[in-house]
Amino acid sequence: MIAAVLGHRGATHSAFAVLALVSLLLHAGYRQEYVFALAIGYLSHLGADMLTPRGLRLAWPLRGTWGVPVCRTGSGAESFIVGVLVCALSWWLATHGVGRSLTLPWIWRR
Ligand SMILES: [Zn+2]
Repeated sequence: MIAAVLGHRGATHSAFAVLALVSLLLHAGYRQEYVFALAIGYLSHLGADMLTPRGLRLAWPLRGTWGVPVCRTGSGAESFIVGVLVCALSWWLATHGVGRSLTLPWIWRR
């Protein structure tokens, strides 16, 4: 619904949106770990979008796009890059404490 109003890769895909959402959630009293996890998911989505030729308007509402066009949406290269990034991020979260506090015990045991 938000994308229908604002458009995909518009305001919701800007640095302003990420900072605003994180600030709003922290101000509302949500636990930092959950806000951090949400921010990682949000930023990983933006990072993936930046890898496509269309790029992102990170400085929205200013014009101009930012990106490193290495693959097209829906291509095999996209799946490979996303898979590598998901594995790397999962490893990082599991080894740096944040992942341990968020991981459900029946899914992950050390
Ligand atoms: Zn997107």
